[in-house]
Amino acid sequence: MATAFGKKFDKALLWSREQTLKPFAFRSAIKLELEGTKCDGVCEQIGKRYTIFVARRLKPHEAIGILLHECAHLNDWVKNGYVPGHSNQHGDSWGVEYSRLYRDYFEWRDRELEATRVVGKRRTR
Ligand SMILES: [Zn+2]
Repeated sequence: MATAFGKKFDKALLWSREQTLKPFAFRSAIKLELEGTKCDGVCEQIGKRYTIFVARRLKPHEAIGILLHECAHLNDWVKNGYVPGHSNQHGDSWGVEYSRLYRDYFEWRDRELEATRVVGKRRTR
């Protein structure tokens, strides 16, 4: 699935799906449109279905940050339970998920970059 955010975001999206969606084995969708709102991202739970929205107007690196932010909400709700109307959705349990995702993402990305780096080049005339 190619998005308007480009390859880097698409890779981050695939990685996020692996990290956040698979382990819980439920159906979920990541939608990429959020028109007519000031929010950069939204994580929504309806029944057992979770949907993450990322605003299309964001720059790719911002969109990746928002994606991880929203995935952290999803993980937090699945592990610790969603509290409707709770004023602080960015509490300690969310922070733990967010920092873990961020760290894991950058470790994965560094390994990706390392794997695609040109290690040798030889030219024959
Ligand atoms: Zn949030």
